[in-house]
Amino acid sequence: MQTAGRNRMQKIAVFGATGSIGASALDVIARHPESLRASVLAAGNKVDALVALCARHRPEHAVIADETKFAQLRDGLRAAGLDTQAHAGDAALDPLAAGDACDTVVAAIVGAAGLASTLAAARAGKRLLLANKESLALAGELVIAAAQASGSEIVPIDSEHNAVFQCLRSRDADAQVRKIILTASGGPFRGRTRQELKNVTPAQAVAHPKWSMGPKISVDSATLMNKGLEVIEAHHLFGVGNARIDVLVHPQSLVHALVEFVDGSTLAQFGLPDMRTALAVGLGWPQRIESGVAGLDLLTQGKLEFEAPDTDAFPCLRLAREALAAGGTAPAVLNAANEIAVSAFLNGELGFLGIPALVEDVLAALPAARADSLAALLATDAHARRIATDKIPTHAHRHV
Ligand code: NAD
Ligand code: MG
Repeated sequence: MQTAGRNRMQKIAVFGATGSIGASALDVIARHPESLRASVLAAGNKVDALVALCARHRPEHAVIADETKFAQLRDGLRAAGLDTQAHAGDAALDPLAAGDACDTVVAAIVGAAGLASTLAAARAGKRLLLANKESLALAGELVIAAAQASGSEIVPIDSEHNAVFQCLRSRDADAQVRKIILTASGGPFRGRTRQELKNVTPAQAVAHPKWSMGPKISVDSATLMNKGLEVIEAHHLFGVGNARIDVLVHPQSLVHALVEFVDGSTLAQFGLPDMRTALAVGLGWPQRIESGVAGLDLLTQGKLEFEAPDTDAFPCLRLAREALAAGGTAPAVLNAANEIAVSAFLNGELGFLGIPALVEDVLAALPAARADSLAALLATDAHARRIATDKIPTHAHRHV
């Protein structure tokens, strides 16, 4: 384990390299050629984008999850005159995460598809820059236990959790911490009633007012499921329960989280809504390194506002808290049902209000059970996806 030290080159695997977080990570890495190097780049199925990133960053390994695209990747790398080694398939990630190819893993694959590589990095003692919150919703205990056992240092990349990490200077929210307060922008539909949410479109839902992000997390932000997943994430990362995690809507998205201590002091982290700050924290920690993000001029920002979340219009936050309280397999069911619901919404098969309705229905159909193994959690994830998929038609037209 090493930091972005002056003498030693830190080799970084960026999983989800073609995505929004991947781009931010590569931007920060490229600012530090003397100490940081992207050694592995992995993507889902965008071969051309991956080859272009390889031409720019010259990693030793490139991985495309979609196995049918292996030849295209290999030939594209060769045509670009690169000696980057091509790999394909989900299974290719784990040995690259665990072996000599990297010191640090940026876990920025979207969805439960990121779990295996996140776990591989945690088990191998790598520094883990964890953006993939779904892996914590699905198997948080196992990821944290694996990191604990190996000495893997997890630095949260989700902006709120990164903010908490900065306030605590660790992941240890001990008895001196009274509570953690995660802020939420409120998404594009803040202030609307349920009635006004019935006919919103995918294009409106992904147009986030403050952050530029991938489509899945943008929809999650619009439903407030993102904040629900973040409550679960905070529980695992900082070892605190539902009752010590508050959510506050803050439309300006300049305060990312606050930590209240037992003596009444509250620390907050401020910054422009740009994920490169969180990635620079993860890549440099405990040093501070240049990220390309400007400082905050509070005089020009105007007012900072705070309000309570509306869980009637946005029930996903309540559903996530209930799943966390139920424990066992419930968060995995919530996450799987949500992934199916969000992709059905993006495909036009489900209305916006169908997302919480479908998730609630699947949670009722699959009551929480004990979850003490990865196999049990993966079986639950698959089962919840089947049930959710089967139930899409029953929710499809209820609200339109
Ligand atoms: P995105 O859709 O922009 O990118 C997803 C990346 O994952 C792409 O590179 C894609 O090719 C890759 N991918 C998808 N399936 C894959 C698979 N099976 N194997 C390998 N790669 C695969 O998403 P994003 O917005 O960058 O979000 C990534 C993760 O980070 C999500 O878990 C999200 O919740 C989290 N996150 C994102 C932000 C943000 O600002 N974008 C903030 C906080 C947390
Ligand atoms: Mg966040």
